[in-house]
Amino acid sequence: MKSFRIETYGGPLREFDTNTPKPTGTEVLLKVRAAGVCHTDLHIWDGGYDMGGGKMLKMADRGQTLPHTMGHETVGEVVSFGPECKEVKAGDVRLIYPWIGCGKCAVCRADTEQLCPNPRYLGVFSHGGYADHIVVPHPRYLIDIGSMTAEQAAPYACSGLTAFSALKKIGKERLAEPILIIGAGGLGLMCLSLLKAMGAKGAVVADLDSAKREAAMKAGALATVDPASPDAASQISKAIGGPLWAVVDFVGAPASWTLALGTLSKGGYYVVVGLYGGEMMLSLPAIPLRALSVFGSFVGSRPELIELIDLAKSGKIPSIPITKRPLSEVNDALIDLKKGKQVGRAVLVP
Ligand SMILES: [Zn+2]
Ligand SMILES: [Zn+2]
Repeated sequence: MKSFRIETYGGPLREFDTNTPKPTGTEVLLKVRAAGVCHTDLHIWDGGYDMGGGKMLKMADRGQTLPHTMGHETVGEVVSFGPECKEVKAGDVRLIYPWIGCGKCAVCRADTEQLCPNPRYLGVFSHGGYADHIVVPHPRYLIDIGSMTAEQAAPYACSGLTAFSALKKIGKERLAEPILIIGAGGLGLMCLSLLKAMGAKGAVVADLDSAKREAAMKAGALATVDPASPDAASQISKAIGGPLWAVVDFVGAPASWTLALGTLSKGGYYVVVGLYGGEMMLSLPAIPLRALSVFGSFVGSRPELIELIDLAKSGKIPSIPITKRPLSEVNDALIDLKKGKQVGRAVLVP
């Protein structure tokens, strides 16, 4: 099988030719049909996350070994499976839930495997979808995509799920009023699509890039704001037209934190999703005095992904712009994403 792997952090991904694995036990071997390129891959490629103050959370310290195949937004077609696997048949096209845990601990048993302390995430700690084949440990991680195309379905495994889980934390009541979305990359656009499908009021979107603000308007934003303009906060409150109950931050930088805290109402929810990095000095009394709730949201659970795919299958979610590229262009796709040139989602096809 063919795969593109990180050999050294930050270096170009190299093509590997290895034996195609033979699934055993409950394992399933799939032929990759589509693999989404995610912003998280840039952090993995770099070897970790900037935690602020010069500290780095290293992938190597978290148990990642090189060479490593990234790719956690994968749709594949079942090729073969181990003898203990009954639920699938060859030819089934499935979206893969990649946020796999140990399968034994309390959070895994509660079906919140994405929070397992011993994760086996595909494309992060196990080999992922930047390849022509992928092995999944159990058919429970395979989700039927109905008549959706592989390219459409792939981004739901991370960008879609992340946006969906963040919105679920805000809750229906708060979503009845406009919210603020910070960042109009793939996640921000996906969030706008989901708001419509969930019957929510909608969102004002802040992004530094005018092309991305334009894409957000096309995706149904109520208004857009350049967060670098000196009166950004007042532009936002004008566009919201009332108290701001919730902010979803897909950037996660000191500047986006400042913008969120400067615009949220008393009792507001601030959901941080983005991993841009950095650190903040924070006036602690502001949190209780303004009764603010700060949530960290990390991808989402398997049941949430199933719920999301059901919503997508109902045709209620308008599709986000997708750019199809051959798998062999993986390095260029990553560089384009790093340079901020990618509008919507790039999906690699082997
Ligand atoms: Zn991702
Ligand atoms: Zn676990």
